[in-house]
Amino acid sequence: MDLDLSSYFSQAMRMYNSSSQIAREVTESWARDNLYCPRCGSPLQQYKDNTKVYDFYCNHSNQIFVLLPSSKDDFQLKSTKSFPHNYFPSRIMGAEYHTTVRSLREGTFPSLILLHYNPYQKEVRDCLFIHRLSVTMNSIGRRNPLGESARRRNWVGSEILLNNIPEVGRIEVIQAGEIVPTETVMNQWTRVENILKGDFEKRGWISDVMRVIDGMQETFTLEDVYSYESGLEDLHPDNKHIKDKIRQQLQILRDRGYLKFISRGKYQKLKK
Ligand SMILES: [Zn+2]
Repeated sequence: MDLDLSSYFSQAMRMYNSSSQIAREVTESWARDNLYCPRCGSPLQQYKDNTKVYDFYCNHSNQIFVLLPSSKDDFQLKSTKSFPHNYFPSRIMGAEYHTTVRSLREGTFPSLILLHYNPYQKEVRDCLFIHRLSVTMNSIGRRNPLGESARRRNWVGSEILLNNIPEVGRIEVIQAGEIVPTETVMNQWTRVENILKGDFEKRGWISDVMRVIDGMQETFTLEDVYSYESGLEDLHPDNKHIKDKIRQQLQILRDRGYLKFISRGKYQKLKK
């Protein structure tokens, strides 16, 4: 993996004049040449035609074991320049809101590749994979509809709320110019799939409780988690048994190796 973007910029500038097209070309070409599938390690395949919805995919063809049917992962690239932030913004522009919500429910929402690059020094600074299973209703924001005068009036956009995605689903590939070993990335990918399996509603609950635990010390108590009861109630207004749900998620997280029960009502987060 090479973080230098100079040659990608020279080539893109011969092809395009508009800075947004140049940025698109640079980041897509870099990702195609340098990134790998976090599940199987193969190079990512690029969707080529203009009607594409997502940017990259992998059908995991280099895996040595027998594949299950319809085993394919889609990826969407979202890139950010260094200025004005020197990292990713907390809100990342998404697609049309209703389409996004439908794709989440139907399980077709892609995993995301977040790329942060410095266009002046022409280098990649940070890259994250966001595992699709870690994106839930709580991590999708609804933007205000466009006004009457806009070209796409009444169009409602979405935004991805990076801070509402549990830490386990944010997998670092490059961190402040340092490349994370492929094995670490792939292990984390497998870990998310083990922890966040299940249907959309169940996953939402696990993920929301994980977000609460993310903010806690290595060891914490049931009462600590209960103190977020009203926040979780806001996210799940139809559920009248929030405390039962919390305990159930903690058991699932224990069974899936994310935490362990130390003693009655006391828990410890397990290392990656
Ligand atoms: Zn793959």
